Amino acid sequence: MLREREINFTYDYRMRCEHCMVSNLMTAENYHSLSGSGMTACSGCREDFNFGPKVIDLRDLEDEALDATKVPELAWYHTTTDPEWPRASWTLPDKELRHLRETACWPEEQIERHRRFYENQALHVGTYEAAIESMLRRMEEQDDRESVFYLHRVRLRQDIRVAPDWRDENHEQAAKITWMDLAAQNWDVIRYLNAHEAMGSISLALVRDATASTQQIRLPVPRLVDPHSEATLARMRSYRKGVGEIREAAAGRALSPLEKLRQRAAARQGELRTPEPIEVHGVLSKMGHYVADQYLAGVSPVVRHDFLHAIGGPNAENNDEADLAWLTKVANLAALLTHADKVLNALDNQPWQDIRPA
Ligand SMILES: [Zn+2]
Repeated sequence: MLREREINFTYDYRMRCEHCMVSNLMTAENYHSLSGSGMTACSGCREDFNFGPKVIDLRDLEDEALDATKVPELAWYHTTTDPEWPRASWTLPDKELRHLRETACWPEEQIERHRRFYENQALHVGTYEAAIESMLRRMEEQDDRESVFYLHRVRLRQDIRVAPDWRDENHEQAAKITWMDLAAQNWDVIRYLNAHEAMGSISLALVRDATASTQQIRLPVPRLVDPHSEATLARMRSYRKGVGEIREAAAGRALSPLEKLRQRAAARQGELRTPEPIEVHGVLSKMGHYVADQYLAGVSPVVRHDFLHAIGGPNAENNDEADLAWLTKVANLAALLTHADKVLNALDNQPWQDIRPA
């Protein structure tokens, strides 16, 4: 039986002061509200220091993953757009090759180095929170907003060799580890402090042979949340009505000097439509936050911010039907954060699939 760790998206952070190296507790609320300045006062030396991913520290000293012998007993997670993960081998997709050559204009030798790394990279697994946040990051950064994602739960082999010390991802490039690096050091698994997803948690870089079996589900998981309430739908329609009124009023009057400037800037970027009146974005932003209040209760403001950026707000030109589709998407994805117990139940109902050696 695999052991699950407690799942929550309300976690706080620990930040190491760059002057005196003291580890400071930082609440998610403070992290979010101070992120504009990026500075906070150290409880050790009293100096202000730059906080953020670069000085992230381990946030849970009781984490069972800190004990190398417990690593194989824990459930590990990964999200990907690939239902066949972990494949025995993979090649850099043609689409990415073309992008590197034609858009990014990388020199051939750099492309070749990247391809070699890509095709030999280690697998990465982490906590449930890290896996979900990794999906959110991909949706935002890699243009995977409309992609289908899968959540994999991983059972490790019991006889794996786990490197005794964990690495700090800020000091050693854990993300760049290849299976050759692991093999050269005779390890199957290296633990590292994740500075990107579920910041401050422990993730693993591992060779494929360290995995014994996986369960997977397609995301989002259907029927995790109740149907939208009438009150929510009415509120959505009223925001949309507000957007319609602003647009209508704007259509009937001459553009202000500021709007003319924005229109020219948009045209320079190849945008032919007239930019929406600024007030429209105000209403849409209110709509987004209202919906987040409904569906992301108990999620930390940092994760909530990342979630909203990943999903994207409702479009200015949506009608009620398109708003409903957006709302449903938000509700279903938010349930991965707020109803993790039900997501694990859905995983429990999936068969374990053995990982066959390459
Ligand atoms: Zn300090």
